[in-house]
Amino acid sequence: MGDSISGLDRAAKLLAESDRAIALTGAGISVDSNVPAFRGAQGLWDRYDPMEYAHIDAFRSDPARVWAMLRELGDIIANSQPNPAHRALARLEEIGKLAAVITQNVDGLHQRAGSKQVIEFHGSGERLVCLRGHGPFARNSVRIDDAPPGCPNCGAILKPDVVFFGEAIPPRALLAAQVEVERADLVLVLGTSAEVSPASEIPAAARGRGARVIEVNLEPTHLTGGVADVTLLASTSRALPALLAAIEGAEPAA
Ligand SMILES: [Zn+2]
Repeated sequence: MGDSISGLDRAAKLLAESDRAIALTGAGISVDSNVPAFRGAQGLWDRYDPMEYAHIDAFRSDPARVWAMLRELGDIIANSQPNPAHRALARLEEIGKLAAVITQNVDGLHQRAGSKQVIEFHGSGERLVCLRGHGPFARNSVRIDDAPPGCPNCGAILKPDVVFFGEAIPPRALLAAQVEVERADLVLVLGTSAEVSPASEIPAAARGRGARVIEVNLEPTHLTGGVADVTLLASTSRALPALLAAIEGAEPAA
């Protein structure tokens, strides 16, 4: 037996009682898939300052320089796999215990794990768009080598279909998330300190409508002891499978 996670029973009870749960995920859920978080101490962001390389002005002024980082990040993501947390969320959706995932990640790991209802606040690196508005094009349909890739339609430089610093969240994703938050009676906040808008507004907005909030993070956040009804201080790849097991064990036999 491993150490039990404090609060797990309470979290499992809330999830079991929920009729419409949603998840809000951030970089922390993909760390165990070796996708580096901006704030992590992992290699990529030591060498590329995200505030510099992930800003749209940097991309527009020197796309070749930013594409050096993007190629490296793309290789990391291509070689990564969904971890037990991604798979547990896909399974919760499958058994009707999770309506949607709202993610701040651009790695596509929720979809690769089998999640169907995924709202991407920050777009996806799996797609590329042309700076003149063509696309999106599947990343794996475009040759990405030493030079920034060009648009198949017009030759202009392609950019990952992700929201850079300095760019707006896609309105469609905002609206879809808003609809989910209004209908949810439980929000799982997973691997994110939820400090960046619009994700930052979701837990309190849901709570204000009477929804429960379960947080899973390695460290306490501003939600802990306040907006969060329960906080599990654990990795998502450990806590989510444990939560799923508790739910599946608790489901009455048909
Ligand atoms: Zn184009």
